[in-house]
Amino acid sequence: MAHVVIVGGGFAGVWSAAGAALARGDAGLRITLIAPNDHLVLRPRLYEPDPEVAKVELRRILGPIGVRHLRATVSTIDTTRHVVVADGQEIHYDRLVLAAGSGLVKPRNLPGAERLFDIDTLDGARRLTGHLRHRNDYSAIVVGAGFTGLEAATELAARGRVLLVDRASTVGAQLGAGPRKEIEAALDHLGIERRLGTTVTEVGDGYAILSDGTTIETDAVIWSVGMRASELTRQISGELDHLGRVPVDRHLRALPGVFAAGDTAAAAFDAGHTVMQACQHATPLGKVAGYNAAAGLLGLPLRDFTPGPYVTCLDLGDAGAIFTRGWDRRVMASGAQGKEVKKRINQYIHPPVDDATKILAAADRVYIALPFFPRDEEQSAA
Ligand SMILES: Cc1cc2nc3c(=O)[nH]c(=O)nc-3n(C[C@H](O)[C@H](O)[C@H](O)COP(=O)(O)OP(=O)(O)OC[C@H]3O[C@@H](n4cnc5c(N)ncnc54)[C@H](O)[C@@H]3O)c2cc1C
Repeated sequence: MAHVVIVGGGFAGVWSAAGAALARGDAGLRITLIAPNDHLVLRPRLYEPDPEVAKVELRRILGPIGVRHLRATVSTIDTTRHVVVADGQEIHYDRLVLAAGSGLVKPRNLPGAERLFDIDTLDGARRLTGHLRHRNDYSAIVVGAGFTGLEAATELAARGRVLLVDRASTVGAQLGAGPRKEIEAALDHLGIERRLGTTVTEVGDGYAILSDGTTIETDAVIWSVGMRASELTRQISGELDHLGRVPVDRHLRALPGVFAAGDTAAAAFDAGHTVMQACQHATPLGKVAGYNAAAGLLGLPLRDFTPGPYVTCLDLGDAGAIFTRGWDRRVMASGAQGKEVKKRINQYIHPPVDDATKILAAADRVYIALPFFPRDEEQSAA
């Protein structure tokens, strides 16, 4: 029986599995998802005070749709022999979906790097919350004032003093000018101090040293700078983009028989942009890549990847949240209204569980209608 193998159990891997199961219908086709984790980790929720809310058991998604989960880590992809090596075991595939995601780029030569915290993984978020749980009025330094660093800093400010450090001369540099005024107002409101044009050069027991020479007492330094795709991408393509991602065509094919999805895939969004390393893209990429991997084997027409509107929703802790639309990130909702949108998104990203019909129906809806975004409600009311 032909075999679709998916590497990765994040948003892209899980939705690839569901997409492949949707295309399979009643046909004979084996689908295996290989990932070391028992849970889908909802990484966008890892900034929240309780990281345990950010996980869903894989067996409750894969079981009902007849996808096997192999708990293992893939070390080798041999695209000539159509084989992957997982924990030393060779597994043959007819179609492969690479969905091994991304990880935080840790600083290599920073003295005290082993003391850094992060909210990139479930274990990382557990370590941070465990460390700060019984400290009241702690002080924390967040390195990186991008999307993740801003969410971490504003959440941590609820119970402690926070210093936000970034090499750039503005906060949220990569988010552009659109939401900057709201972000700065939120940081002021929460009393978050900023040191821009600087970084952390050493972390010690209870202190950090900044590149301007200042030593600052701190209980925790949280590293939030830079994401890069899984190293497995190097085994697929010699032409990776600046985030280490594999170029793919409109069917999300990287090579004959090999697809890529999620944070490993540099898919075109439009003429001027590739997709973001974001779950809002990892989910539809997975649905299309998985569907196409199975459809190709079953003689069905392949689906094009045609993205929905680009939006962001940045949580700003007790200062609410900002919801933006478009690549210029026009602010559509902020404060309490933005927070409502964020809450709904954070619930929405939980896949359906225990119910094959619901899971497959969701896999077939590549893009969600987003009726909960305020402007959409206004428009549909008009
Ligand atoms: C704190 C934080 C906040 C975020 N906020 C948002 C947000 O608000 N909105 C948004 O859209 N996105 C957000 N993101 C980004 C989003 O989480 C990622 O884009 C998304 O998780 C990517 O999904 P993925 O499946 O491609 O990869 P991942 O989630 O990285 O999953 C990769 C999977 O592959 C597995 N894997 C890795 N290597 C191997 C291997 N060698 N063999 C087998 N399995 C392997 C992993 O165990 C994991 O199961 C946020 C991320 C973080 C960290």
